Amino acid sequence: MSVRRRTLLKVIVLGDSGVGKTSLMNQYVHNKFSHQYKATIGADFVTKELQIDDRLVTLQIWDTAGQERFRSLGVAFYRGADCCVLVYDVNVMRSFDTLDNWHEEFLKQANPPDPKKFPFMLLGNKIDIDGGNSRVVSEKKAKDWCASKGNIPYFETSAKEDINVDAAFLSITKTDLTNKHEQDIYFQGIPEVVSETEQGGGCAC
Ligand code: GDP
Ligand code: MG
Repeated sequence: MSVRRRTLLKVIVLGDSGVGKTSLMNQYVHNKFSHQYKATIGADFVTKELQIDDRLVTLQIWDTAGQERFRSLGVAFYRGADCCVLVYDVNVMRSFDTLDNWHEEFLKQANPPDPKKFPFMLLGNKIDIDGGNSRVVSEKKAKDWCASKGNIPYFETSAKEDINVDAAFLSITKTDLTNKHEQDIYFQGIPEVVSETEQGGGCAC
């Protein structure tokens, strides 16, 4: 009997409003980009299935619903996160300056057992704008920040031009898989015979 293993990874995307979090997600999951600005509404997360070696991975990517403006994202957003993607806009200094706060806020709210080892990733988005002429945060500055936080992987992206979006999510998925403890759900071979201990007591529902 072939057993395929499935792993669920919860990825949360954080950063200032307007940096392109929703656009990156849409580009990654639906291969779509829209110029229209609208605060995210609707589902809490989108999913994308990937096959990596013998593993099926379901990425559950959580986006904010615009509440990042008020920094009140609620416990459900952070709970059980396997990794955190921080996003800033390379053309907006303030969105880079607030990364420290987002990083701290994540650690405070999600409270992972080993904060130093928790997988973060940084994306510098909107590198397409003005052919890079309006950028105010250099790659070096971003990489220095990543180094200061324990060597966070860094990618420069464009949700609009679909630059590095797949590569970034693939990279974080691979890192996550190596970190993640076995939480596999076996598709096949679910036993039909219930063991005696399970039969005794409890309700029959
Ligand atoms: P969020 O608030 O972080 O979710 O940001 P959005 O995804 O809603 O994007 C805010 C605005 O930036 C929208 O008008 C997008 O079309 C635009 N945008 C997002 N990513 C890019 C990008 O890579 N390049 C360009 N030129 N515009 C982008
Ligand atoms: Mg959004």
